[in-house]
Amino acid sequence: MKALVCVKRVIDYNVKIRVKTDKSGVETENVKMSMNPFDEIAVEEAVRMKEKSQVSEIIVLSVGSDKSQETIRSGLAMGGDRGILIKTENDQVEPLNVAKIIKYICDKEKPDLIILGKQAIDDDCNQTGQMLATLLGIPQATFASELKKNEDNTIDVTREVDGGLETIRVGIPCVITTDLRLNEPRYASLPNIMKAKQKKIELIEIDELGIDIKRRLEILEVNEPPERKPGIKVENVESLVDKLKNEAKVL
Ligand code: AMP
Repeated sequence: MKALVCVKRVIDYNVKIRVKTDKSGVETENVKMSMNPFDEIAVEEAVRMKEKSQVSEIIVLSVGSDKSQETIRSGLAMGGDRGILIKTENDQVEPLNVAKIIKYICDKEKPDLIILGKQAIDDDCNQTGQMLATLLGIPQATFASELKKNEDNTIDVTREVDGGLETIRVGIPCVITTDLRLNEPRYASLPNIMKAKQKKIELIEIDELGIDIKRRLEILEVNEPPERKPGIKVENVESLVDKLKNEAKVL
């Protein structure tokens, strides 16, 4: 099976987000950027499947600016075989457009398994995987917390749903999106980071694809969330009930 893993360059999850003074977006200059955490889980899962000889090749794909090459390299250092960067002016391509671009690559590369994160932590959209599966007309298994490949090339995917866990069986080719508990991604070792420098990353200019990536959404303004008021300590249960009834008016 050939696997295609999609990785997005986002602001590192440890960074405290700062809104730009003109409220046009969030500050990304001089800010630590990393691979979207759910995409690290996607790469890890593909690498584990390769280690079990269930996957023969792992392609790491990103859509974004030149700097997204670093993100692809991180995926190659974890165990990806080769990379593809679809070069755009910035890293903020909308999910439907990303899905169209990934579909273009799928038509060319014919992967059996396409693994994405369930959501990117910058836009929190949770859309790309679902849109991609629809565009390709193939099965999708989202929010995967366990994957089991069967002899007949189907995959049993345990999904985290509101009521608990659900296991579904999908045939290949299929789209899978990863949830947090699927695995714990490895740290790339120094020798593997060095080896990754030799691995090939194919650069494709977005214009070559003939896909319209015009934004359909307009950001009017970005604001900090309102500051939380500090809590108070109450003397006893009676005063707690009194405050809930008369101040918070929730009882
Ligand atoms: P989203 O729908 O934006 O929440 O993103 C869901 C997943 O789609 C991410 O975890 C990535 O696996 C993939 N994805 C989104 N944007 C990109 C991008 N620019 N390049 C590569 N993969 C992406």
